[in-house]
Amino acid sequence: MRDTWPLLDKIAFPAIARGRLDTLQVNVGYRCNQSCVHCHVGASPHRTEEMPGEVVDTVLAFLERRRIATLDITGGAPELNANFRRLVTSARDMAVKVMDRHNLTVQEQPGQEDLPEFLAANQVEIVASMPCYLQDNVDKQRGKGVYDGSVRGLKRLNALGYGREGSGLTLNLVYNPLGPSLPPPQLELEADYKRVLGERFGIVFNNLFTLANMPIQRFGAILLSQGQFDGYLDTLQHAHRDDNLAGVMCRNLLSVDYRGYVFDCDFNQMLDLPLSRNGRERVHLSQLIDDDIFGNPIRVAGHCFGCTAGQGSSCGGALKEAAE
Ligand code: SF4
Ligand code: SF4
Repeated sequence: MRDTWPLLDKIAFPAIARGRLDTLQVNVGYRCNQSCVHCHVGASPHRTEEMPGEVVDTVLAFLERRRIATLDITGGAPELNANFRRLVTSARDMAVKVMDRHNLTVQEQPGQEDLPEFLAANQVEIVASMPCYLQDNVDKQRGKGVYDGSVRGLKRLNALGYGREGSGLTLNLVYNPLGPSLPPPQLELEADYKRVLGERFGIVFNNLFTLANMPIQRFGAILLSQGQFDGYLDTLQHAHRDDNLAGVMCRNLLSVDYRGYVFDCDFNQMLDLPLSRNGRERVHLSQLIDDDIFGNPIRVAGHCFGCTAGQGSSCGGALKEAAE
């Protein structure tokens, strides 16, 4: 797979620094039951990297000591990690809000039959990828049969109350474009999703997050092989808005890899650009338990325009509309 980093590294991006830490985003491993075209993690059923129990212990110690408000669990398919449920229940016992980056079809993997009930019982907020409301587009991007499996997964979650007003169970969907273009306006697309999924399947959900594809990993390699890298970077740079800089997720989120090393965000994790601190090249979460990283410079490069282009994108969707 061709690497886009040498090209991204040459592109200047405005300097930014970290703010107050409120979210720990933990990548518990790169194994996934799917292998989507746009996946910025390069996850697949063949990946073996997995967060071991002792790193999960460090994560829990950090949450407790630093009184972190939100734990955002990602992967791969995070639920396939043997420590996933212990991580969730222990964080919930500390009253930490837990988010699960959930791919819906994982509910049909062996041993995951009771996953929706587990998530509901622990009031886990679900962020589920659903790159389109049309079958063709989803199967093209995420694999054959993924659309039907995702619809079944959404129905199961709805049956437990997810996405329904007053249930306290939040179900958000994530959209990203199929190719090298910016996502359309979030609120308009959300209305389309609600209408189509509602009319066709009776599915309900809370919000739709629109995210731009990052020019890294598998998607980056495709851009390079199809000669679209420069054009896409141009699109992102031309659509950059300075006022999006205040809302990028790396200001308030710390990303942790499966070994416990920390990064300014998940994208930097995938590019292996570790957070640098006091001259140390690589920092482990255990070294930050008593170290406040407020004001630390964020490692930026050309890929960061994926977060500040147009309405901007963050793990919580478009920055503009999310802030309104
Ligand atoms: S479901 Fe998510 S983690 Fe898995 S391959 Fe697709 S994008 Fe990557
Ligand atoms: S990719 Fe986005 S979140 Fe990551 S460091 Fe750049 S601006 Fe921040």
